[in-house]
Formats: sequence, C-alpha cells, structure tokens
Amino acid sequence: MADTSSPSLERRRADSRTIDEPQSTEGERSLTVRSRPQASGAWSWVRYPLVAAGVALALSPLAFLWPGENPIDPTNYAERTRRVLKSIPLIDGHNDLPWQIRIELHNRLQDGRVDFNKKLLGHTDLQRMRQGMVGGQFWSVYVDCDDQQKHFEDPSWVVRDTLEQIDITRRFINEYPEDLQYCDTAACARGAFASGRISGMIGIEGGHQVGSSIATIRQVYDLGARYMTLTHNCDNAFATSASTVAAGGPDDGLLKLGYAAVKEMNRLGMMVDLSHVSHKTMRDVLGVARAPVIFSHSGAYSVEPHLRHAPDDVLRLVKQNGGIVMAVFVNRFLNMKNPDSATIHDVADHIFRIAEVCGWECVGMGSDFSGTPEVPIGLEDVSKFPDLFEILMERGATDEQMRMLAGENILRVWGNIERRALEIQATGEKPNEEEYEGRNWHKGLKNAPWMLRQSREKAATSGGAEEPYMFNVDGEGKHNPLIKQV
Ligand SMILES: [Zn+2]
Repeated sequence: MADTSSPSLERRRADSRTIDEPQSTEGERSLTVRSRPQASGAWSWVRYPLVAAGVALALSPLAFLWPGENPIDPTNYAERTRRVLKSIPLIDGHNDLPWQIRIELHNRLQDGRVDFNKKLLGHTDLQRMRQGMVGGQFWSVYVDCDDQQKHFEDPSWVVRDTLEQIDITRRFINEYPEDLQYCDTAACARGAFASGRISGMIGIEGGHQVGSSIATIRQVYDLGARYMTLTHNCDNAFATSASTVAAGGPDDGLLKLGYAAVKEMNRLGMMVDLSHVSHKTMRDVLGVARAPVIFSHSGAYSVEPHLRHAPDDVLRLVKQNGGIVMAVFVNRFLNMKNPDSATIHDVADHIFRIAEVCGWECVGMGSDFSGTPEVPIGLEDVSKFPDLFEILMERGATDEQMRMLAGENILRVWGNIERRALEIQATGEKPNEEEYEGRNWHKGLKNAPWMLRQSREKAATSGGAEEPYMFNVDGEGKHNPLIKQV
C-alpha cells in the first residue's frame, strides 16, 4: 500500500501536545487542550505562534486589522476566532441529529418531549450551536445499510425511512424559524447567515438509501438532498465502500451504475460525497467527475492510516478537481490504537495535512457529532468549534485560512457545483436512464392495454396472469362472495 503512517509524524503528534486540566475559566469547559510548538518537521514553522504570526503580519498587514475593526493582538486567538466566525458562516459537513430524533423520538416533534433550545444530552442542541458559533449545518439523513444487502433489489424500507428522515429534518428546521433556515443553495446559506440564522441543509449518507436507482437520486434531490455519500458501510450498486476493503474484500471501486450516478449528480448539481467509499472509488470518481467532489467527514490517510481517510494522491486529485475534504472528529478514525485518547489536536493535524497537500482551499469540517459516541478530548460537542479555531491559530493559521476552513471553501465549492450543473444542463443533456443490471421489473398482465405489438405477443406466450377482478359484486352492484376471480 502506497500510504502508510509516518512514524515521525506520529512522534511529532505525540510530543506536540499537552493536556492541562482544568485551566479554562469559560463556563463548562472542564478541559483545555493546548499545543506545545515544535521546531522540527517540514511544516513545523507554522506551529510556532510568534514566528508564524510575524510572517503572517509581514505577508498581510491587514491579517489582524480588518476594515472598520480595531487591531487585535495576534495572540488573542479567542477574539480573532470571534471576528472570523462573525464574517463567514461556520458550516459543518455532517451532523446526525436527525438520526437521534428518529431513534429516540420516532420522529415526533409535537409531543413536547424535547426542546432543542434547552441543553440536551449528546452533542447537539440549538443552545450549544449558538455557543459554538455554528452558522450552517449539513444534517445527515442517514438510514442503516440492510443487513442482508436487500437494498439492491428490495429497497422499500430503506428508501421509505430516507424519505422520513428528509421529512423530519425539514420539519425540525421549520420548527425553529428564529434560529434555523432550510437551505438548498449556497446563496441561501450565505443569506441565512446574514439574517442571523443557522442554515440547515440535507445530505444522504449512502447510495443504498436511494435503492440503487438513479431516478430516486433525482427525486431526493428534488426533496432537498444536496449531497449523497456514494456508499455508507456497505457496498451498493454504485460503488465499493471502505468498510468492505477493511474487512478484506476486493476494492472494485466505482461500479458501472456508479459512473452513471456521478454523471447524473453532476448534471443535477448534487454534491458527490466520497466519505465512506473505498480508495479506488475515490480515484475512479475523481477520474470522471465533471464537477468538484466533497468529503463530508473524512481526514488525511497519511496522518492516520484509516481507510475512511483520503490518501495523499487522492488529496492531490481533489486539489486539481477543486473539491473539499471536511475533517472528521471521530476518535477511532483519529487514533486507531488508542481511540479514547484522541484529542482536538488530532483533528488539527488532519486539517494542517489536508491543507499542506491539497491547499487551504480544500479544507472544511465534518464533525459527525450526534452520529458517533466517540468524540475527541477538547471537541466534546457543537459548542467547541471555536476551540479548534483557536488551536489552529495558535499553531500558525491565519485569519484568512480560518475563513476558508469555516465556510468560504464549502460555499465556493457548492456554488461551483451549482454553476457546473447549469452549464451541463445548458448542453441539453438528458436525465440518465441507466438501471441496476439485476433489476427486476413487473411483467404486466396478459390482458394489459399494451402499447406495442411485441409486448402483447410476449405477454400472451409468457404465461402472465390476467387482471384479477377483486370486488365480488354482481351486475347489479351487489356484493356476492360466490363471484370469484374471472
Ligand atoms: Zn459517516
């Protein structure tokens, strides 16, 4: 395998942090994680706050002095973070609160069991989103893979539940109109932020959720889904998942119908999400994508060799593609050997690495809050996003880089995907009609009103049934149980 964990990087990460507790005076923070700058490594200069701040100031005199604003002490990371997050919406790529609403409330919002304005257990509520200065959220409308993989041919409950998750997400957003605003365009997300609301968008976490049907992709797009992860932790008719490869299965990459799905998603303007897919799937998609791709919640494989992350060659392809990798906060992806000891610094490591290989234009955040029980020390819930910005700044990131991370990148990428779709549509490209090759179609009845002679002849010889008469009524319209099927 081309990409392996770098021992020197591992050591540097292990050495570069200390956990001081409790140091903070800020309310509920019981633990503050602070980095110890290192002078070694190819990009370690960025971790040296004073040097980095000096370089940043020299390169951009206005880095810490925005128009109409008072100058800020460059080491006042909290104030710099506040200014950044007031200037651009912080948009998280992946939160599973709709799944919590499903399993805990059976999608009932009206019985008063939960007030999302109050502090809840778990990772997400509106109070803590405000504390965390969240400006936009892609809500995942996740539904399980079917254990028997029946979604290939019998997708009914998976698709039904997906429709219900779209419904509950939109109803949840509409339930809090002062705080939240449903959005299905990048411009809407910017507008919601300007009006002081948190934009709420919808993402589908796996091609199994559309029953291997491209027509269903079109329908969930019409219902508001703006990204679809090609797979979750199961293969489907579109692509191979990372979990299959992790279990020793073959990496067949993007499958025949997957090429059609990507083509259609590009035509629609639906973001193609490569989190959860196998590495070959990532490469295959990047080889044919006609628009930027996203990773809604993944990291850098060269920092931690988990198959959920993007290897360096993929990060370079994403750079060419104009896409984005939104860093995930899940412990077992951040620290495979000791998940419980994963910290906010591990997330920072992934962000710096993605930026190093793909550019700062590539980075975003996709927490997976409310979708995983395991979150890093220092990033316990949605209120902690600003802490991540402070740590990144302390390690040398500039305000402009933080603006890109927060929301500028995903909004630009999304906007470019929307524009690309309009260009494709302007060529007259028709909706894609490819289908899963194992698809069974209803055969119809012998006495159906066929449109084509061949169909009628085929039905006559194929032994198909005739339309049953179901009502058991006589010629007078009276019920008569003796009248059976004709
Ligand atoms: Zn996921």
